[in-house]
Amino acid sequence: MRDPYEILGVGRSATEAEIKLAFRKLAILHHPDRNQDAPEAQARFKEINAAYQILSDPQKRAAYDRFGEAAFRPGGVGGAGGASDFGDFGGLDSIFSDLLGAFGLRTSEGGHVKKTLELTFEESARGAKKELAYERIDVCGDCHGRGAAPGARVDTCAACGGRGRMRYQQAFLPIALERPCTTCRGTGSIPSARCPRCDGAGVATTSRTITVDVPAGIEPGSSRTLNGEGHRLKPHQPPGDLELLIDVAPHPFFRRSGDDVLCRVPVTFTQAALGGEVVVPTLGGKVKLKIPASSQPGAVLRIRGQGFPHRLRSGAGDQLVEISVEVPEHLTDRAKTLLRELGDELGEDAPAERRSLLEKLKELF
Ligand SMILES: [Zn+2]
Ligand SMILES: [Zn+2]
Repeated sequence: MRDPYEILGVGRSATEAEIKLAFRKLAILHHPDRNQDAPEAQARFKEINAAYQILSDPQKRAAYDRFGEAAFRPGGVGGAGGASDFGDFGGLDSIFSDLLGAFGLRTSEGGHVKKTLELTFEESARGAKKELAYERIDVCGDCHGRGAAPGARVDTCAACGGRGRMRYQQAFLPIALERPCTTCRGTGSIPSARCPRCDGAGVATTSRTITVDVPAGIEPGSSRTLNGEGHRLKPHQPPGDLELLIDVAPHPFFRRSGDDVLCRVPVTFTQAALGGEVVVPTLGGKVKLKIPASSQPGAVLRIRGQGFPHRLRSGAGDQLVEISVEVPEHLTDRAKTLLRELGDELGEDAPAERRSLLEKLKELF
């Protein structure tokens, strides 16, 4: 087995993206469909595939980095295995699924693309216009989908007579079926020289930036589908859809519960006991919150209308503020004296709540 890094022509520190790109280029170049008169292309393609299977899998890559090819021998160390098991490869459609896989884009038939749209907590509450840059397969800009190199002669495909489709008879079926012509790959024409950018496929990876309108109050884990923003797998085929999975980054202070915002606000012992006012951040800015006298730790105060906007009706959720009573860490001598006096004054050997608890305990025994 040759060094997979050498096979793909990448350095040992190559990023995932660089590995994918190298694989994609080599896979197009050596795909057996394009090299029917060169039997060694099949072996080369298998080798490229096997190298990519190792380097695209972080576990297998780590095993190779550590143990070399020994990690992939039967019964070898590491036990990663499976490197020589690349299965069968089919026609044109399979190379595209190879390519799509090489881009890390989860796809199903029809060029469906899934991407994650990352939002901040505030963006998910207020809504946002988000720019999303991604790569998709679309009509090759160099040959405009014709697959021909600039200035190349374009002849009608002899195999399909320019129809781009071939009829074939399936045993047991009374009718002839059709499939894209493999000679011209469905285009109906054969250029004298292939477009160097797309290697004649008529489609190539393109960068695309779209602006996504995120509605206020969108829920994390929900998804939105943008029609026609996915891959165009063949030049004359409509593109698939782009599915955006909404991911919301955690907020250091807020949490979401339904349409309510939860947070915890520290108050001093004095504020909790005597009542007072604290400034609380909300999604709409800072507001003053009245702390009632004798507020207990864990008490929850409600700020109306400062939550997430309701999606299906007007209005918004609330902000629920949990009171957390802070015990001072550094006390001056005078503060200690005052607190001891306070303790005596409150009869702290048995404060009210504890006294009743003690009494209840006594009743039990
Ligand atoms: Zn092209
Ligand atoms: Zn043809």
